[in-house]
Amino acid sequence: MPDYDYIIVGAGSAGSVLANRLSADGTTRVCLLEAGKPDNSFLINVPFGILGLLTSKTYNWYFNTAPQVNLNNRRLYWPRGKTLGGSSSINAMIYARGVPADYDEWEALGAPGWGWDAVLPVFKQLENNERGADDFHGSGGELNVADLRNPNPLSELFVAAAAEAGQPINRDFNGASQEGVGAYQVTQKNGRRFSAARAFLDAAKGRANLIILTEAHVAKILLEGKRATGVEVKTTDGMQRLMARREIILAGGAVNSPQLLLLSGIGPRAALAKHGIEPLHDLPGVGQNLQDHLDATIIIKDKTKRSIGIGPGAAITMLKALLEYRKSGSGLFASNAAEAGGFVRLAPESKRPEIQLHFLPTMLRNHGRTLTPGYGMTLHCCQLRPKSRGYIGLKSNDPFAAPLIQPNYLSHDDDLAELLAGYKLGRRIMNTALMKSAAGGVEVEPGANVASDAQVIEHIRNSAETIYHPVGTCKMGHDDMAVVDDRLRVHGIANLRVVDASIMPRVIGGNTNAPVMMIGEKAARMILADRNEAAV
Ligand SMILES: Cc1cc2nc3c(=O)[nH]c(=O)nc-3n(C[C@H](O)[C@H](O)[C@H](O)COP(=O)(O)OP(=O)(O)OC[C@H]3O[C@@H](n4cnc5c(N)ncnc54)[C@H](O)[C@@H]3O)c2cc1C
Repeated sequence: MPDYDYIIVGAGSAGSVLANRLSADGTTRVCLLEAGKPDNSFLINVPFGILGLLTSKTYNWYFNTAPQVNLNNRRLYWPRGKTLGGSSSINAMIYARGVPADYDEWEALGAPGWGWDAVLPVFKQLENNERGADDFHGSGGELNVADLRNPNPLSELFVAAAAEAGQPINRDFNGASQEGVGAYQVTQKNGRRFSAARAFLDAAKGRANLIILTEAHVAKILLEGKRATGVEVKTTDGMQRLMARREIILAGGAVNSPQLLLLSGIGPRAALAKHGIEPLHDLPGVGQNLQDHLDATIIIKDKTKRSIGIGPGAAITMLKALLEYRKSGSGLFASNAAEAGGFVRLAPESKRPEIQLHFLPTMLRNHGRTLTPGYGMTLHCCQLRPKSRGYIGLKSNDPFAAPLIQPNYLSHDDDLAELLAGYKLGRRIMNTALMKSAAGGVEVEPGANVASDAQVIEHIRNSAETIYHPVGTCKMGHDDMAVVDDRLRVHGIANLRVVDASIMPRVIGGNTNAPVMMIGEKAARMILADRNEAAV
């Protein structure tokens, strides 16, 4: 007798929504398996804790990519969330959706029902925007979306400087137009991080029909012929087999979901054979089509010392800020670090912004893993729609080992040209008279001696990093390389779906957390509709 109706693998952005919705009737038995520990941590709850989460291994898979030939053979660090809430528990909390054309493109690529007209109502339903509801926003949904409580004055200076450089100011990147610069809205409530776990698991945790197991790492999907029946999972009590009557739903994210399929014998036959895994279902697209937003930074000094820095008196500033946060939930500790930014077009004829900017009123290098003493500001410039494609593969058949992450950054020449143009635009903003008024004209990175395009390109190759949006590795569609259909069912295997960032056929032009929660919500509706249809 199966233990559950549904087993969900991964309690991240998508898995949290699924667990809530599938268990909502109070009777359907749902098991949510999360490899990481619970999320009761100061670092997670307090927005500014993001800097600690990036450097800690407790709530973070702490992955590294294969050496990148186009980035001077560097291995890039890829943090991914490993706790309840998944990456939404360690992310920068920016609430963004991309643009309508991103979703219409999904539909055109073979995903009927995923165009903008279909997904906008879902975004709105999930949302509780503190600014209230309008044509583009919802109120009353579980996901709290707020304005930052006390943005750093330098974030406002950045917006003014970008306007000086010719960019329109935009108060709402998820409104009528995405283009322009401004302050980001964030997934926070009362100055605290509002992860997918806060939004969707807290209310569901008490249900007797929802079992949530943490430190439960799924090692394999169990198949009977071409039907998924259960999972093999390592828990604190050792290895166990858990069985599901209806479906197994993978929500492990763009790195782990394809890895788990491969480990279970579902994927490109040759790749499985190489690691001694019996190929049970030949599916060439598993792990392929990896896309990510590659990002390069400009750092300038802050002679006004209003930035968040390391210098004499910094410890006292931090202590005061902590007390302020404890008292009122505001101040520096309520900051998501990436407070402002925007979406810019590189040419008048561009139909969508090609570049996203993230401005931080602090000097951030190497994801905060390299401390930079002094005071300064960082502008991140990332390319939104790369043409380079990579893959997730296996390094071994050990289910507890990290997979092979090969993003193939800048393997398409157009990507370098676009990132270079975006970087130069970002650099112009960081060197406007307004920014110089605070910075005293001192550019720390790339620095005055990096002037020609060739030098800037070399700087990008030496320093570009991920801005954390890998997607596409179990892509939705109906072509030979699609892994799931438009109802997110794995092609050729019954009772198995993938519901997370991996199903995006193309990366959207923005941050990916809200889109993944939208995917979770749509998938839950499909799963329940399929169940009800089967019952008729
Ligand atoms: C540092 C960082 C900053 C970011 N900033 C932003 C931002 O500001 N705004 C934004 O919109 N997006 C941001 N993102 C991206 C966004 O958070 C992710 O795209 C999104 O959370 C992905 O959701 P997911 O459900 O696909 O995967 P995840 O949320 O990563 O969830 C996957 C879950 O599955 C678990 N899991 C994996 N394998 C197994 C297994 N075998 N067994 C059991 N459990 C397993 C993982 O531990 C994890 O909890 C950021 C991401 C990071 C890492």
